[in-house]
Amino acid sequence: MTTTSTPPTSGATQPAPTPEKASALATAHSQLANAVEILGYDPGLHEMLATPRREVNVSVPLRRDSGDIVLFRGYRVQHNVSRGPGKGGLRYHPSVDIDEVRALAMWMTWKCAVVDLPYGGAKGGVSIDPREYSQAELERVTRRYTSEIMPVIGPERDIMAPDMGTNEQTMAWVMDTYSVNRGYTIPGVVTGKPIPVGGSLGRTTATSQGVVHTTRAALAEAGLELSDASVAVQGFGKVGSHAAAILAGHGARVVAVSDQYGGIHDEGGLDVAALFRHVAETGTVVGFEDAEPIDNHALLALPVDVLIPAAVEGVLDDVTAHTVKARWVVEGANGPTTAAGDRILAKNGVTVVPDILANAGGVVVSYFEWVQANQAYWWTEQEIGEKLEHRMHVAYQGVSSLARREELSLRDAALVIGIQRTAEAHQIRGLYP
Ligand code: NAD
Repeated sequence: MTTTSTPPTSGATQPAPTPEKASALATAHSQLANAVEILGYDPGLHEMLATPRREVNVSVPLRRDSGDIVLFRGYRVQHNVSRGPGKGGLRYHPSVDIDEVRALAMWMTWKCAVVDLPYGGAKGGVSIDPREYSQAELERVTRRYTSEIMPVIGPERDIMAPDMGTNEQTMAWVMDTYSVNRGYTIPGVVTGKPIPVGGSLGRTTATSQGVVHTTRAALAEAGLELSDASVAVQGFGKVGSHAAAILAGHGARVVAVSDQYGGIHDEGGLDVAALFRHVAETGTVVGFEDAEPIDNHALLALPVDVLIPAAVEGVLDDVTAHTVKARWVVEGANGPTTAAGDRILAKNGVTVVPDILANAGGVVVSYFEWVQANQAYWWTEQEIGEKLEHRMHVAYQGVSSLARREELSLRDAALVIGIQRTAEAHQIRGLYP
């Protein structure tokens, strides 16, 4: 589900300020530097891994329904394609800029490698607030952006998927624009499409399902089950809402959730199914009855077992990380923890299941969708669920055993695995010319 096209109708407070933007790329570079040091790579290889392979920077003019013209910036960054075509989401958010897209593209490279997909990493974005525009306007923006980046995308080049502010419909428009220009239907150019045009069963909830698989695996290492756990989720969009619902379905107590307008809290556990109905009606979690209001900062500091940041980058930083009382932070969002935040959480004994592992379920089922679309042969939901669980299990165990063996954090272990696989592919292929 997404809240992006439905403005809140009641009880909404002002949107929370967007965290410091420059930090996403700084965080990504700092993580890479740590892993490079552990791996003992030379400066040349480090620089290659730190530098995007290709960046496209475009203007996206829009004729508004009123007839006025407005202009947005659009980006597509292919960070690394040594292991296969670029793969990564398309984000619509007012604070999107080239540095944020670079960071997100780099994380996609490591993520695809950690779950051993035959992809490199890419990301795209348009600096637009989708809540301010009609569906017809968003369709025109999407089609124009797609046509501007057409030369660098395609099922063998770079495959898009939904991210913040975009959804299945956005992917259908990208697919249609690309296909019309090529002269035939090419469903493999995007993943996260609606089922009737080649989407995969299980894709809508795949990222959240992966978050739950990794949460379960992390808790199991401490002898805890999901049904014993209390959880707080920041962000009630595509990732956070389904994560909350699946966790509640497993008997976990979801005590708080939030979105950009504010949050709600009930120590006894929220009725997540009723909350979905409230969000469908109002566009926000705010105002849900039978719960107390809570702000986004207070949510991060709740005394829960598991905290799932599933909104924007940089929310756990040198200030907020001190307040975290959860035993586990499972990163549904990309880059929710800054480098300083990470050090503080580690010092305080909080186990962080890192984004490139925890939220990889989405790209795993995107890969399944791409394989199905390219063969025009579709799997059952059960097959997809089992294959996803297997891949998440193998990836988690690989990361966790490396972490134990080398005394690394789960983040460093995941980065080491992802970066090593990427560097290995690069070195085996050799340098052209
Ligand atoms: P979305 O647009 O569907 O939802 C985002 C949610 O975050 C909304 O509830 C929004 O209100 C809330 N939010 C926005 N700004 C906020 C703020 N400042 N404070 C608190 N809440 C805020 O997006 P999504 O697809 O759920 O993505 C969320 C995160 O997960 C992003 O970091 C994205 O890159 C990452 N992610 C998404 C997928 C996927 O399959 N969609 C896969 C992997 C990672």
